[in-house]
Amino acid sequence: MTESRTILITGASRGIGATIARRLLATDTEVIGVGRDFSEWETAPKNFTPVELDLADIEGLPHRLGEIARAHPDIDGLILNAGYGRFGSLEEFSYRQIQEMVDVNLIQHIFVARAFIPRIKKQGFGDLVVIGSEAALSGGPKGAVYSACKFALRGLTQSLRQECAASGMRVSLINPGMVKTGFFQDLDFAPGEAPENHIRPEDIAEAVVMIIQAHPGTVFDEINLSPLKKVVDFSKK
Ligand code: NAP
Repeated sequence: MTESRTILITGASRGIGATIARRLLATDTEVIGVGRDFSEWETAPKNFTPVELDLADIEGLPHRLGEIARAHPDIDGLILNAGYGRFGSLEEFSYRQIQEMVDVNLIQHIFVARAFIPRIKKQGFGDLVVIGSEAALSGGPKGAVYSACKFALRGLTQSLRQECAASGMRVSLINPGMVKTGFFQDLDFAPGEAPENHIRPEDIAEAVVMIIQAHPGTVFDEINLSPLKKVVDFSKK
């Protein structure tokens, strides 16, 4: 495995993805970040290429992903992270909202993997890290569509792990509980403010670095993280 890596991160504009990006930039890594709005980044640091792309535009995605792949033929890692939460009873979702959720939280991930995996396999080494959720492990009330997507991502990673191993490509899934990010901005709940009530995005970034820097023959299949004490704050309601 080469020392210097080029890693594409979806949802790198904010939250967990931005924290992973900054952490990887602190190592000898070139980062291609995908998102719709990079205004939080002010000036892009050295080795960081922001790519503005709406991953909900499923129809246009193969073309745009092809362009990115041609512009960055040395990508040897993918962090599939972009996503959003919407919670409620199934009947509270319009059909359009369901489609949009599944497009952004599931389909686009499969498309990004489809676009880059063939090249990575050819290189003979590389990493795919998917940011799942505790919702990938058990469903709960008001989380049907979100959980359906995250469960599916778990199936995706389990299959790809077996499919890609012969080509030296490792596939990992990280399942966090509540992480303190803008994820909760438009939701009526959030993790508790106390340090033991939420995971920090930095902790996810450390897990990613551990996965990527592991001995090439070692695969972290799944990493589950949870707050020490789960406290959900519904006072935003
Ligand atoms: P966040 O702070 O809201 O960040 C979400 C990221 O996804 C942003 O960079 C956003 O970029 C990107 N994104 C969303 N829709 C997009 C679209 N249509 N096209 C391109 N990029 C899009 O949330 P986060 O907490 O970092 O969440 C990141 C991932 O972690 C998600 O998959 C989420 O399900 C998962 N997760 C979060 C938690 C939590 O408690 N926070 C727990 C478990 C799992 P733009 O807005 O710039 O497009």
